Amino acid sequence: MLNANSLKVAVRVRPFNQREKAMRSKCIISMAGNNCTIVDPKDPSHKRTFTFDHCYWSTDGYIENDQGVYLPDGPHSRYIDQERVFNDLGRAVLENAWKGYNASLFSYGLTGSGKSYLMTGYGRNKGLVPMICEELFQEIKQHQNKDRQYYVYFSMFEIYNEQVQDLLSKGRKPNGLRVREGRHGFYVECLKSVPCSTFKQLEVLLDQGIRNRSVASTNWNTTSSRSHMVISVHFQQVVTDQFMMKHSEINLVDLAGSERQHSAGVASDRFNEARAINLSLTTLGNVISSLSDKAVGRRVQYVPYRNSVLTRLLSTALGGNSKTIMVTTISPADIYYDGTMSTLRFAERAKNIQNRAVINESLTEQLLIDLKADNTRLQARIAELEKAGDICTDEQEMLKGLIVDNEQQLKEMQKSWQQKLEEAKREWEQRYSSITKEEKMVTEFPYFLNVNEDPQLSGVVRYFIHQGSEDEFVFFNYDDWLVKPKTYLNISGTSAIGRTVVSEQDIVLKGLGILDKHAMITVCGDKVLLEPVNKAKITVNGIALLTKYQLYHLWRPGAMVMLGGLETTEAPWWSGVWLRGQAVPTWHTGRSQLTHQRCLAVATGQPGGARAGETQKENPNLAGIFHDFIAIMPMVAQVNQISEELDKGVTFEVEVKNLTSTNARGEELEKEIIVKVTNEQTKQVEIWPRDKFTDRKLLIEGIYQRFLENGTVHNKMEQDPFWDPVEILHLGSAHVWLETLAYCIAYEDQVDVINYRGKVEAVIQIRLLPCTSSGNPLGEESVIVDPGDLLGKRMDFQMQISLCLGVKWIRGHSGRGVQIGFMMYGLPVMFCTPAVWNHANLLLDYTMCFTIQRVTTDFLNYLKTHAVVLELWGLQGNGDPVKSTDDRSGQKSPFPSWDAEFAKALKTFYFNMIGVRGRLIQLKEVRPLDEERIHCLRYFANERSELIKELGEELESCVGRLKNDVAKIIRRKKELQIDATALA
Ligand code: ADP
Ligand code: MG
Repeated sequence: MLNANSLKVAVRVRPFNQREKAMRSKCIISMAGNNCTIVDPKDPSHKRTFTFDHCYWSTDGYIENDQGVYLPDGPHSRYIDQERVFNDLGRAVLENAWKGYNASLFSYGLTGSGKSYLMTGYGRNKGLVPMICEELFQEIKQHQNKDRQYYVYFSMFEIYNEQVQDLLSKGRKPNGLRVREGRHGFYVECLKSVPCSTFKQLEVLLDQGIRNRSVASTNWNTTSSRSHMVISVHFQQVVTDQFMMKHSEINLVDLAGSERQHSAGVASDRFNEARAINLSLTTLGNVISSLSDKAVGRRVQYVPYRNSVLTRLLSTALGGNSKTIMVTTISPADIYYDGTMSTLRFAERAKNIQNRAVINESLTEQLLIDLKADNTRLQARIAELEKAGDICTDEQEMLKGLIVDNEQQLKEMQKSWQQKLEEAKREWEQRYSSITKEEKMVTEFPYFLNVNEDPQLSGVVRYFIHQGSEDEFVFFNYDDWLVKPKTYLNISGTSAIGRTVVSEQDIVLKGLGILDKHAMITVCGDKVLLEPVNKAKITVNGIALLTKYQLYHLWRPGAMVMLGGLETTEAPWWSGVWLRGQAVPTWHTGRSQLTHQRCLAVATGQPGGARAGETQKENPNLAGIFHDFIAIMPMVAQVNQISEELDKGVTFEVEVKNLTSTNARGEELEKEIIVKVTNEQTKQVEIWPRDKFTDRKLLIEGIYQRFLENGTVHNKMEQDPFWDPVEILHLGSAHVWLETLAYCIAYEDQVDVINYRGKVEAVIQIRLLPCTSSGNPLGEESVIVDPGDLLGKRMDFQMQISLCLGVKWIRGHSGRGVQIGFMMYGLPVMFCTPAVWNHANLLLDYTMCFTIQRVTTDFLNYLKTHAVVLELWGLQGNGDPVKSTDDRSGQKSPFPSWDAEFAKALKTFYFNMIGVRGRLIQLKEVRPLDEERIHCLRYFANERSELIKELGEELESCVGRLKNDVAKIIRRKKELQIDATALA
């Protein structure tokens, strides 16, 4: 079916988690052979089946043995355990690596879908990374002899916010490591690559890397769900008697949660950083789409590898020199239907991708000679450029990059393996001794363990409470993840936990709600006492601590001490479990109780709320909203707390949009989580979609982080992610049914404007009047019995909006106004009343006349089945005419018209053209490196023809897109024949 160079795609479905079980979620995934079927929970007749190379069922049919390993529960079980996945996929990776192919494997899926379980695994349920590495060393042992030597280098890094951070190095680089382009593709400069000769060594590095990630996620503004983790194993085989060398780069990638890819819809956000957070994943999606289109013979714009760090580094894995496997992980639960569906679609596209893997084989001696000669020439070219006065051109930059790359390779080759191994071993031994010390201490001393939202990062950082004298001690310090042996002084007195270090024995924590001096720990004999300083927030098992409190050894399982964080048990930035040898409580147990209660009350619209299961049975959309609500609540609470600490005067509230609203046909509107943002000082209000909120939250956390680090907040108003310029708000809507018009009957009513909470926001006085062509109302004698009589005739009617009463938005607030907008029969303009201000009961006196030249069946149907939805818009901003949108005055309307559509098409074109111009400049600047060298010349020629091809394709696509856009606008304009005139 698929050829050997196709990207292999597998899908794995995990068991239900606690939360899904609690919500009584239904399973919407089934698997048979290589087919995976997903059912739409809203419409069970709607099924879709996907075919992949492997479908792994891991949802049920398993038991946990006494070691904690998940295994099939019998000979007929369909459960696929970690071992089986390794036997299929892990062994394929190894086989390719031995042949000298580059091999890549990446996991893709929503946060919590099982990516990390698959890649690194948890506890005894080891994942692919450790199993592949362990097996690699096993196989090496079997093959090794005096003429065959094998070298393994291990590196591990994280991409967050377009920055690369080395997970094996101490500390973090402020702007991350640089990504350069070398002869064999892109690589990370100065990335630590540690030689390993045993699996034990590598395992320690892997653990340390994950620990580093965990510390970073607590202390810096990152979360593993937003970052990509790349583990890279460089495997070299040297056959000395044949002067032959093979090498393979094994890349194992745990991608950021794929929900981030979709939230790139916030592209209109004025913050570039917000876009950068998702850039890598969005670009990955685009790269895969382009490659997939290309593979099925479609015409493709250029493949945008260069647009993000992740895709640059994965460019060989995707469509390049690599044998690649992608595993998509999914949840079986109905509440994730949309996310799972898009994950599966993504996988479907990915399987088309064709790679061009070649065996990386070379003659060792020749390579050395080549590299040296190459560098001499490159240097000569640079000297030439400098002589000609060309300083700092792009070409020089590139040449320098190539030299660095070559030198690195030379150095690596010349340095003997033994020597490198010795160096690495010394470092490793230091780490290892710390680890064994820690292991010993775990059995001897009580300690705090961190709890993180991501299970992979939970329980990896330890703080020991040690009562003792001045003996050698290992202390894990937050700022300095590398375990450093140091003397941990006597804590039998009192030591502090807080933001600032006062003395050696203090524990430094940074995080939300943690004060400079937050808590005191006193160790006194067998007793350990914890006491909050001033009014610092501490909870012990969910109960706020007010005075000194004794903590016990071997407390009940899941005991949790929470420092800082929020008033409730939700979402701490840092928290600890006190106790040794007990199960680590999960993040969700820590915060679930309260959120459930509150959310139910809102999501069902009933005080007290229905039970979760019931909600869901009635309406799957509501169940999804319920789930989103739980997820966003703690985030909103966190941002509120930051806002308070930074004295921002902005508050955030979660709301459900369209909780009770219907569309023009009376059908329920899609519910959606929104966040209402209120500026407490001006009382101005904004509504943010959920994605905008989650992206802004990252920026807000960034500001908070700076505040923690330097005590200052960047305070340029236009850069403030807490607040946006004044916007127009949607307050609610009212329905005016049109059916009376079909019988030429006048209609007058007071209609309620219902807001998103289902409450009456205002009342609108409205009239629908059939009239003559000169605008005079028709009398009762004109009433018709059969609307069919109107067919083919001209029809005139008026819409009058006279009053808007009791507007809650305005009541008691100055500087606020309203405006009503509505659409009519597919006309592309929103008709608007003039803006009126500062009074809760408003005289609008607005009349709009509509003329239909020839009544059609379609129009009659429209009248019979549709309502005009009157949208009430809230205006704010101290009486400024924010948007005076009376159409009659010809002033700018906030709603799209044809002009706006044309402008949009042109703008898209303009931005696309900027891209094209950039490529043209790039093209002009590519020059051959050195004409004498065939090798270089070919490199140049390839690059140039590639660029020309990309340029051509881009240009074609820009022009084509503009043509399409314009044609579409003209076509739609022609289609709509109804005229509207306003009465002066
Ligand atoms: P991700 O890395 O995609 O965010 P995780 O790998 O951390 O998700 O998985 C979330 C939870 O689901 C973890 O507690 C993990 O133990 C559990 N889990 C995931 N996949 C499986 C599986 N195949 N079998 C059993 N448990 C699983
Ligand atoms: Mg994970």
